[in-house]
Amino acid sequence: MTSHWFVNLVYLVSAVFFIFGLKMLAHPKTAVRGNFLSALGMLLAIIITLLDRRIISFEVIIAGLIVGAGIGAFLALKVPMTGMPQMVGLLNGFGGGASLLVAGAALFEASYLSEVMTNQFLIATVASGIIGSVTFWGSMVAASKLQGWIEEKPILFKGHHIVNIILLTLALISGIWLILHPSITWFYWILVIFASILGVLLVTPIGGADMPVVICLLNSYSGLAAAATGFVLNNNVLIISGSLVGASGIILTNLMCKAMNRSLTNVLFGGFGAEVVTKTDDIYAGRVKSTAPEEVAILLNSAKRVVIVPGYGMAVAQAQHAVRDLTNQLESKGVEVEFGIHPVAGRMPGHMNVLLAEADISYDKLKEMDEINPTMVQTDVAIVLGANDVVNPVARTDPKSPIAGMPIIDVDKAKTVIVIKRSLSPGFAGIPNPLFAADNTLMLFGDGKKMIIEIISALKEM
Ligand code: NDP
Repeated sequence: MTSHWFVNLVYLVSAVFFIFGLKMLAHPKTAVRGNFLSALGMLLAIIITLLDRRIISFEVIIAGLIVGAGIGAFLALKVPMTGMPQMVGLLNGFGGGASLLVAGAALFEASYLSEVMTNQFLIATVASGIIGSVTFWGSMVAASKLQGWIEEKPILFKGHHIVNIILLTLALISGIWLILHPSITWFYWILVIFASILGVLLVTPIGGADMPVVICLLNSYSGLAAAATGFVLNNNVLIISGSLVGASGIILTNLMCKAMNRSLTNVLFGGFGAEVVTKTDDIYAGRVKSTAPEEVAILLNSAKRVVIVPGYGMAVAQAQHAVRDLTNQLESKGVEVEFGIHPVAGRMPGHMNVLLAEADISYDKLKEMDEINPTMVQTDVAIVLGANDVVNPVARTDPKSPIAGMPIIDVDKAKTVIVIKRSLSPGFAGIPNPLFAADNTLMLFGDGKKMIIEIISALKEM
């Protein structure tokens, strides 16, 4: 068995790698190295833990590694880029599920071996069971909403929040009972059942544009569950890494809340948009003007400044490389091109940045919402590529809308707006968008990539 001080020294090195890795993730230029550094930290931590712990059978661990890595590799290859947000949601959930199972196993082992259970051990086990269950089931609901398996809109029944408070109280009472009577281990599963129902009911009322916030929050919970399991197992590196995930998840949650102009309580208890029904005919009838790639090319050819606002549809169409070619072509004609990136565009934080970076679009051209909005009035053409909710002016005008109060990219202030999408279907929040019927808007109906390629060909012929 490796000596205790050496194990903790290696854990400390791993923790330093995690912290520097996280810091480097904050910028696209250093993000890949940051990811590598964090993974190296985790590898070190795993190796030293395997050498240190009371390993019963390496065969079982290796078999688990092969099965887990096999499933992981299969999913990574099979899941399309557009399915990544759901996959991230599932992985958050599995983190929580693993924590609750490990804490449960430690409890049953201690009970079976009649070991003395300390208060730290029992309190951490209860915390892990409750947070892990909420994270697992909450993430399953979030991933199913993103996948479209269940209604994306908020599902809220009368007395919903009171039921949640009752479930939390019951889970806590079962936890306290377990701490007072550790030999009655099945109380652990009772608290897991209450917390699991709570996890489902906490996420079902959240929908529409508030989903990014809940995904960040569940990410944070998965870290907290891991940290609690670290206290169960007395494992320092699990406590540190769990706390880092928990803290960074909370920071991201806060940033997302600010981006959406919402408070966390408002997101968790609001159930916004549960009963909003808007007739699309009232908004679109006779007012929508469609255009063709050749007409768009003429507009772009005479523009001085163009702003491209990408959204989830760019990810679906995988149009980022075509967008880069269009940008290069416009710049070769002396047109200034910038990108307006909304913090919740796409289906996961940073979704648009990742796609545009993949296509080698210079990071300097990507402007955040606060930076791009004041420049929209001087913009000749705004191209909205597969974005919908993040440019919907209803956010400013209708306090009952699911996206009410969310700051949007002010494309409507540009001289001309070109919206590229396949139909008039709504975006994630499920509401119509009056921008499509605005006087200065032209709709270019079709797949994002195909339309951009056709605009490029038309420009080449000019
Ligand atoms: P939206 O979901 O509002 O709209 C996307 C649009 O893309 C659709 O209206 C769709 O219209 C269009 N589209 C789909 N496929 C294609 C294609 N092949 N070519 C062209 N267009 C296409 O996206 P936004 O990015 O504007 O907004 C993101 C929404 O998702 C917000 O409500 C946000 O809150 C939510 N969300 C964000 C998360 C995040 O972390 N970023 C996480 C979870 C939810 P059509 O079918 O007509 O083509």
